Amino acid sequence: MEQRKIYEVAVYLRKSWDDTGGEEDVLLKHETALTDLVRKNNWRYVIYREIGSSDSIDFRPEFRRLLKDIENDFYDAVVVMDYDRLSRGDKEDRARVEKILQQSNTLVVTPQRVYDLNDEDQELITDIEGVFARYEYQMIKKRFQRGKKIGARLGHWTNGPALFPYVCHSEAHSLDVDPEKLDVYNFMKHRILSGATCSGVCWDLNRQGIPSPKGKLWSESVLYRLILNEVHLGRVVYGKTSGGLHKKRKTAPFKVIARENWIVVENAHPAVKTPEEHAEIVTLLESRRIQPKHARRGTYLLSGLLYCAKCGYSLQFQPKPNGRTLVKKCQKTDAFGNCCDNRGVELEHVEKAVMESLREHEA
Ligand SMILES: [Zn+2]
Repeated sequence: MEQRKIYEVAVYLRKSWDDTGGEEDVLLKHETALTDLVRKNNWRYVIYREIGSSDSIDFRPEFRRLLKDIENDFYDAVVVMDYDRLSRGDKEDRARVEKILQQSNTLVVTPQRVYDLNDEDQELITDIEGVFARYEYQMIKKRFQRGKKIGARLGHWTNGPALFPYVCHSEAHSLDVDPEKLDVYNFMKHRILSGATCSGVCWDLNRQGIPSPKGKLWSESVLYRLILNEVHLGRVVYGKTSGGLHKKRKTAPFKVIARENWIVVENAHPAVKTPEEHAEIVTLLESRRIQPKHARRGTYLLSGLLYCAKCGYSLQFQPKPNGRTLVKKCQKTDAFGNCCDNRGVELEHVEKAVMESLREHEA
């Protein structure tokens, strides 16, 4: 029961000099082992992945980032394969790391042990539950201070209304799954995974009378953004941008932050799609984005100037094998999948009609 005294952890992955012999995917193995450990305890986590294998802190950019975040009191614990991953370097490095861990009262958790740098005896504590009972008071104290320091805790949902199919769990400041909405979400996910288009799925939903998250008809762009959203992986992402777009208020200039510098909190709320499903959806939708019809845009006299008389939708052209050009039948489809019934015609006729009416104006 006392195991929930840890809420947010940092997972630090780094190759060690002795990992290089033999096995290739050591880091991946470590990542699996550590994320299993973290998920089993239901902790929220952020992964810090070091590419190089230097022992010195100066040459470990991810570790420097981690240290700063520990100093800022982001985490209850740092999870590593073994304690030496943190500081095998010189004495100065080691002392610096331990001081930061102590001052922020951050534990070090390995698959075997929990280290508490504030333990006077500096002894290793092997019983995880023992640690939580013993340091409950300190953790509560820390949480209280932290509440003042950074306001919102990592992994909290602070982006306004809950994303479909979630509802806000106000007490935990987190997201819960709405079972009814989840049925709808799973329906659209499985339709997309089996090759349906976003507009096709919208038509299905609208015909069934299922409202969009804002209570309207589903549209392609809404469904497209929803189905690609990473929040459904159980993730909350921070720091995609910095500064503000506000013109009157004096803020730092708006900047888009590189993805490797985002803070990605995993396991922040229940996931409704797996990483494998997500990857497949991305592949499916990306492959469909390249549409050859746009390549020819602007190559005809009347390109972009011809609209359907029945519905006002912009009409497309298509070259025919006989060298002539076809004005394609109107491609407009309503929210239920009903097509406009305006038929196609050869461009020649249209151009002729346009020329004739222009001549009338001349006269
Ligand atoms: Zn039309």
